[in-house]
Amino acid sequence: MASPKTTSELDSVTLETGLLSTWQDEKLFELSVDNRVDGEPFIFLEGPPTANGKPGIHHVVARTYKDLVCRWKTMQGNFVERKGGWDTHGLPVEIEVQKRLDLMSNEAIEAFGMEEFNKECRESVWTYEAAWREMTERMAYWCDLDNPYVTLHNTYIESCWWALKKMFEKGLLYRGYKVLPYCPQTGTSYSSHEVALGYKEVEEPSVYVKFKLEDTDASILAWTTTPWTLPGNVGLAVGPDVEYVRVRVTADPENWEGHGGAAIGEELILAKDLFKEVIRHHCEEIETFPGSDLIGRSYTPLFPGAVDRDGSETAWTVIGADWVTTTDGTGVVHTAVMYGEDDYNLGMEVGLPAQHTVGMDGSFLAGTHPALDGRYVKDCDSTVIELMHDAGLLYREKMYLHDYPHCWRTGHPLLYYAMDSWFVRMTAVKEMLLEFNSQVEWAPDWVGEGRFGEWLRNVKDWAISRERYWGTPLPVWICKECGHQHCVGSTEEMSSMAKEGSPVAEDLHRPYVDDTVLVCTECNGDMKREPFVMDCWFDSGCASFAQWHHPFGEEGKFENNFPIDYICEGVDQTRGWFY
Ligand SMILES: [Zn+2]
Repeated sequence: MASPKTTSELDSVTLETGLLSTWQDEKLFELSVDNRVDGEPFIFLEGPPTANGKPGIHHVVARTYKDLVCRWKTMQGNFVERKGGWDTHGLPVEIEVQKRLDLMSNEAIEAFGMEEFNKECRESVWTYEAAWREMTERMAYWCDLDNPYVTLHNTYIESCWWALKKMFEKGLLYRGYKVLPYCPQTGTSYSSHEVALGYKEVEEPSVYVKFKLEDTDASILAWTTTPWTLPGNVGLAVGPDVEYVRVRVTADPENWEGHGGAAIGEELILAKDLFKEVIRHHCEEIETFPGSDLIGRSYTPLFPGAVDRDGSETAWTVIGADWVTTTDGTGVVHTAVMYGEDDYNLGMEVGLPAQHTVGMDGSFLAGTHPALDGRYVKDCDSTVIELMHDAGLLYREKMYLHDYPHCWRTGHPLLYYAMDSWFVRMTAVKEMLLEFNSQVEWAPDWVGEGRFGEWLRNVKDWAISRERYWGTPLPVWICKECGHQHCVGSTEEMSSMAKEGSPVAEDLHRPYVDDTVLVCTECNGDMKREPFVMDCWFDSGCASFAQWHHPFGEEGKFENNFPIDYICEGVDQTRGWFY
């Protein structure tokens, strides 16, 4: 190693690289760990970065803090293993490959071939590994990059499967039907983590629509910011205790903008508090009454035939809901059960028909309306508005400025959409989450109680499945004959249940694992795997045990490395990797 004799000879780069190579030659990091093998362990867990993106300066900051504490504990005599880790699954990887190969839809990926596509994903995750290693070494972050845990390894996946089976056996992993923010372009639903990444302020048309009551000559007004959900309308929700007013139009307004209108003598019903806000015409009040007087009354469907009644007695009637307020709109909530979380819950509660008017590709299904069938819903706002106007069912339109979630990868507006999905029942373990969080020593302390605590106090069941290709496959097989569900917890279990002659996946990824047919334990029928992969936050979140291939790997390794003493990550991980 060259040392400068005078300040003019000082070449900081040579000095730094010389020092680094001396450390490497002497294996100083390894020695500093191995020499303390009998010391008290100080357990560090490395949050895994993804190497398909270049390291940035914020990574240097995080790694400085990681290194500082681990080095200090080492100097105090502790045994501080520092296993590196890589996050290698999930949508970010797929999107990168999709962009490079111009495969911007699921159809394009499937035409290209899932096997080839996943091969590309597997390679792409190492694109910037050398850059990461160089950054890590140059900044002297001591971490074992030669034996890292990698979320795409079979051993890592097997540990995730083990954890999923544990949840399944406790009833914490379930298949549901839930309205989720969904991007028709990427073909995937998003977790609340991902939705939080993509809010944009947009101005869109909102409409006040007339729903004609069948037992009297008056219309109930309801407001919506998503005209494309109107063909899916199956109910109107009112607040039972909210005061409503019935008015008769007596004269035209002084001025008018946009479509819509009302005839002299026409009668309209809405919340009394919102009358001034909504109504532009001169009117006389006929009567006021509580919302409970409206409950059960039928109205004419806006798009007859778009949704089948399917035996429902409550379809196209007024329904009471305590959560209806008069803060905006008309105090009447247009209910399309497949396109809103509250709508869906209400629909299930009172028995509204649950049918889609929109396909997974974001286009109206055939049979909705000749002017809409097959068209992308977000392109149809003006058509829907014109159809309402022409039918005399539009009172007003109004541009509406609001924050609306967009796909954090493609920038497209997300649709709230009822879809098949697998969930982890986080709501069932909320008290445990809060209890364990209170035992964590957070720095700064407000993050634990505030930002992260807030997140946990509002915990929702975690939509954990993705209709994607590159990720940890969901290890649930369903019997085609009897519908029995089986969650596999190891490769050994998968092999032992495989049907004779069925291929048994050696690489646990799709498409190989999809070809493995299991024998139903209930009826001996064929079981097919549910075609989902896991949210990649789930697999990286398994790092504390999956990094040691627990419980299949070296005995005692996990037990000796848990609980963790030190984790240091960016504050955004309170909505990401920390859960
Ligand atoms: Zn069966």
